[in-house]
Amino acid sequence: MTETVEREIAGPRTYRNSAALVDNADPVWQAAADNGLIDIAVDHESNNRLVVPETGHAFANMCSCSYLGLNRHPAVLEGVVDAVRDTGTIELMTSTTRIRPTIQRRLEEELGDLFGAHALLSTTCSTVTAGLLPLLASGHLAPGGPRVMIFDRYAHFSMAYVKATCAQESLVLTSGHNDIDFIADACRKYPSVAYVADGAYSMGGAAALDQLLELQDRYGLYLYFDDSHSLSIMGERGEGFVRSRTAPGPLTTIVASLGKGFGSGGGVALLHNAAQAEFLARHGGPLGWSQNLSVPTIGAALGSAAIHRSPELGELQAQLRANLALFDELLPTPLSGNGLPVRRIDVGDADRAVRLSTELYQRGFYSSAVFFPIVPKGQAGLRVMIRADMDRSDLTAFAAHVTELSSAE
Ligand SMILES: *Cc1c(COP(=O)(O)O)cnc(C)c1O
Repeated sequence: MTETVEREIAGPRTYRNSAALVDNADPVWQAAADNGLIDIAVDHESNNRLVVPETGHAFANMCSCSYLGLNRHPAVLEGVVDAVRDTGTIELMTSTTRIRPTIQRRLEEELGDLFGAHALLSTTCSTVTAGLLPLLASGHLAPGGPRVMIFDRYAHFSMAYVKATCAQESLVLTSGHNDIDFIADACRKYPSVAYVADGAYSMGGAAALDQLLELQDRYGLYLYFDDSHSLSIMGERGEGFVRSRTAPGPLTTIVASLGKGFGSGGGVALLHNAAQAEFLARHGGPLGWSQNLSVPTIGAALGSAAIHRSPELGELQAQLRANLALFDELLPTPLSGNGLPVRRIDVGDADRAVRLSTELYQRGFYSSAVFFPIVPKGQAGLRVMIRADMDRSDLTAFAAHVTELSSAE
């Protein structure tokens, strides 16, 4: 192809640039693959003991998002079986917007009641975001016309992925991480603005919630939070970091994956009224056209919801806090003591991060090497997630290996 023709066809690559992304990331992915760190198929003896059947290699999973271990809880597993038996199906294979099974409505009502919101369910949190954000940009979710969409630089991939679509509707900006001055400036400059961010960040840390709520009061800033990493682990009913401090409202939406701490699967939007849910089901792209949440997943979520109403939730949260405290004592990091379960061990260089992850894997611990575009360039490291059901002996051994290997490098 001639250069002129290529120029006519390619681009504008303002909000995504696959060539740059692949060129940067693929060599590191390949190094991870060459070291046997990706595409590992295992049998699941427990969350702490995964086994590769071909080799018998057993390892502890240090990067599971099942923060409370609910993915293996008997009540969750029983919920699956009960739901399938009661309905006699795994899914009503019809668009959710038109027909949905009563068990799905039951879960919506249950989650709405549990978290004090109007719950809209979807197959994944990514689908919720993909369906909702363009309508926030176009001005359909709140008065004030099309909204300038500010994405935090560290907002999860599932949100950043929708920038290009949002940009077809309104101006899209990227702020520095928790850059309140940038957001305040935009609020003064433009009539309506939305800020899109994680509540508890997938790579650690949290949103600057108090200051953001102040901007909302002053300027009518719309706040869209993905709180996937704190659902279930914080709050009396597991409502999470953001929902513990503020409620969904005309200018606030909270979304989360149910496939992390909640231990089931699916995604949920916590909305402020039924009209918003109905509107999104009609016009929110995949929120309407994609499949219903499967019946086994709904059953698991109902089982998990029951645990959220019981004293066991507080006990599991306390176990998680104890494991976090132990980890922070053994292996202090900049995120120590923040009450959230994601920890990062900074390495800097991507190849070194892959080497460290490989060595730890051979010693029986899987922790994920993270590198660009998962984290900014030059900030590669290991990502570790602490869970309530981790053994203290595993945490102690893991920390000792990391300390030994880091000092050897
Ligand atoms: C994991 C993750 C998601 C993806 O959730 P799905 O329900 O699998 O789409 C979305 N947002 C954040 C912040 C995540 O960490």
